[in-house]
Order: sequence, then C-alpha cells, then structure tokens
Amino acid sequence: MSYIGICEYVIGVIHDKDIWYYVGDKDSDGKRIRPDERYSSFLIDAKRYDDEDLLREELESLPKTLTYKILELQRCPKCKKEFTEHPALSREDNETEICPECGVREAMDVYLKNQK
Ligand SMILES: [Zn+2]
Repeated sequence: MSYIGICEYVIGVIHDKDIWYYVGDKDSDGKRIRPDERYSSFLIDAKRYDDEDLLREELESLPKTLTYKILELQRCPKCKKEFTEHPALSREDNETEICPECGVREAMDVYLKNQK
C-alpha cells in the first residue's frame, strides 16, 4: 500500500460540535500565549508534532476540563491541502486517499456525468 503522508500530528479540542486546534503555550518567539488564545479554529495555526510520545506528554499537561483528540495530519494528493478528517477513497483508482472535499467533488462529477 502506498502511503503518501507526512506523519505529523496536531491536537484537536472538541468545542461544541466543532473541532478546534491546540496552538501551543508559546509562540514562535518563545513568548507565552494567553490561555484563552491557545486554541484556534484554523488548522494552519495548529502546533504540529512529529513525535507521538512528545504529543502525549503535552496532552497530559493540558487542562482536563476540555476534551482532546489526537489528529493525524494528511496531505491530499489531489488538491495538496492539509486535512485531519477521515479521508475519502478516490473513485479514480479506489485506493488513493483524498480529502473529504475532493471526495465530495468526485462524487458530484460522477453524479453530473450520469445526468447526461
Ligand atoms: Zn483534496
């Protein structure tokens, strides 16, 4: 099985029905980030971990009042965007894992083709 991954992880925080991303407690200059600014709804802000042990260690130190989820970062081979959701299977070869958005787009294309 071919695996096109970068094997990085981010910490997701369950926020109502959405998932937010843990940004970290220090910014790139090493300055402390205020506790209420440590979560972002944008994946681009998320702190990345390439070491799962390190991630679990950090997870232990986070406030227990929130619900966390370890998310694996994947890059969509089709649109090159990063995503953390469950991947969709490409209809082109039935084995390439693509992002959910591209999955929907491919399904729409098939649907539209069948309409003709
Ligand atoms: Zn995609």
